[in-house]
Amino acid sequence: MVLLENKKCLCCGADFVTKPRVIPKKFCSEKCRTRYNARVSYEKNKNTKEYKEYRKKIFKDWLDNNRPHFNDLCRERSRLYSRKRYTERVKNNVCVGCGRIKEEERQSKRLCFACSRIQTVHDKEYHDKKKLQSNVPT
Ligand SMILES: [Zn+2]
Ligand SMILES: [Zn+2]
Repeated sequence: MVLLENKKCLCCGADFVTKPRVIPKKFCSEKCRTRYNARVSYEKNKNTKEYKEYRKKIFKDWLDNNRPHFNDLCRERSRLYSRKRYTERVKNNVCVGCGRIKEEERQSKRLCFACSRIQTVHDKEYHDKKKLQSNVPT
C-alpha cells in the first residue's frame, strides 16, 4: 500500500496529493513552482543595485526603440503645462481656455462663456471626488 500525503500548494494554495519523497513536493504543478520561485527571487532582488540597473537598462532599451513616441509624450506635457500660452492669451484679452474672443459680458473674466461652463463642471467633479475621498473610512 502506498501512503499518500495531502499537501497545500505554496503558490496557489490548492490541495494536492503526493507520495512522500526525500525532498517534499511543495507545489501542485510545475507552473506553480516556476511562478513561486520567480516571485521569491523578485522579492529578494527588487531592492538590489543589480536589479535597479537592470530595470534602468530595460527602460533605456524601450526608450531607444520608442524615442519618437516618448518625445511626443514630453511635448504634450510641456504643451499642457505651458504658462506661456496662458500669459499670451491674458495679454491678448482672449479666453485662456480656448483662445477665442470672449463674449461682451465676459470681458472682465479669463474664460469665455463656454469654457467657464466647462470649468464649473470640472470644479464640481473635482470637489465631489474630494468629498467622496474624505468620506472613505480609513
Ligand atoms: Zn499551485
Ligand atoms: Zn473659451
